[in-house]
Amino acid sequence: MKTKDKGFNTKLIHAGAFEDEFGSATVPIYQTSTFKFKNAQHGADCFSGKSDGYIYTRIGNPTIRAFEQNIAELENGYDGIATSSGMGAITSVYMALLGAGSHIVSSDAVYGPARGILEQDFSRFGVEATFVNTTKAENIIAAIKPNTKVLYIETPANPTMDITDIALCADIAKKHNLILVVDNTFCSPYLQKPLDFGADVVLHSITKFINGHADIVGGVIVTKTVELYKKIRHCMVYNGCNMDPTQAFMVLRGVKTLGIRMQRAQENAMKAAQFLQVHPKVGWIKYPGLETHPQYALGKKQMNGPGSMISFGLKGGFEAGKKLMDNVHLALLAVSLGGVETLIQHPASMTHAAISKEDKLKAGITDDLIRFSVGIEDIEDIIDDLKQALDKV
Ligand SMILES: *Cc1c(COP(=O)(O)O)cnc(C)c1O
Repeated sequence: MKTKDKGFNTKLIHAGAFEDEFGSATVPIYQTSTFKFKNAQHGADCFSGKSDGYIYTRIGNPTIRAFEQNIAELENGYDGIATSSGMGAITSVYMALLGAGSHIVSSDAVYGPARGILEQDFSRFGVEATFVNTTKAENIIAAIKPNTKVLYIETPANPTMDITDIALCADIAKKHNLILVVDNTFCSPYLQKPLDFGADVVLHSITKFINGHADIVGGVIVTKTVELYKKIRHCMVYNGCNMDPTQAFMVLRGVKTLGIRMQRAQENAMKAAQFLQVHPKVGWIKYPGLETHPQYALGKKQMNGPGSMISFGLKGGFEAGKKLMDNVHLALLAVSLGGVETLIQHPASMTHAAISKEDKLKAGITDDLIRFSVGIEDIEDIIDDLKQALDKV
């Protein structure tokens, strides 16, 4: 079914799906590593690109293609490239767009390993990186050098919840001939479509909201142009971080409910944020749905809703936070986010532990920051859980 002119929730369920000879209602798992050619000419045509038949699952597979086309439609992009993990997506993008002597400007509060791999590994191949607070355009402009090729942002940033202006970054990127890459993991295309605001590449850890059930790891990239698509797909295929057909089947199932999951999760998050905001033991809270968020207006402009991620700190600092995390019963003390279950974690000692203390502070990742990913349980139970744990602090 053609879904290009249909609504978002219809696309979630039908985009990318294809009919098979049995009339299957869902896209089956094509659990095969290789595909038989009809004859030698067909094999040659598949390799030369004259035929779009499948060759080998690292290069392409029907179940994976269905997911790639689904997400490309959701993000209003040219096409999708599915990967084994979110880091596989990030690494493929870096590999495709950077090389010896080139430079990338990135958000200082970016996902920990997305920064770590630049500082520890791409640096060995002569790639330079500068991390700045991208919520201020002047910081980005000051960091741009003659060899800068990529502007990379994550908004809202993980875990500070700082919001970066995508349209403004697209203007800066255009003026300086940079490729603008946006990590859209925290929003999913339900809340934010970076390509619509002028980004060139959008990527996701589908481990989070897109799959949404905390049962697989995966990633995906969507590009605006065919040129970027070919360049990045080449790197994904050659470095071998392809998605597996079973992963693709799982995420095709998960993505169908993205709309209703996000809607419910952000309704819950708003109520949890309102509860935390006035709690006497809470020192500060950052949630895009609260007017106290420093970029509340910008969030309203580029996001279709505030999402379900909350950062907050307790007046008692890290020790109080530790006590809170040890006393919640419903919320799982676990990294990751965006699933149907509520999760709580401490970035300074967990997801962002690899970053130096100095860089963490510069990026606003204070020792007391607690990251709360609100799930779709009954909100009364989520708040009761916070209440009894805060009583013990
Ligand atoms: C989890 C995450 C990643 C990395 O994804 P994996 O699937 O764990 O490899 C990248 N960016 C953000 C914002 C994330 O939350």
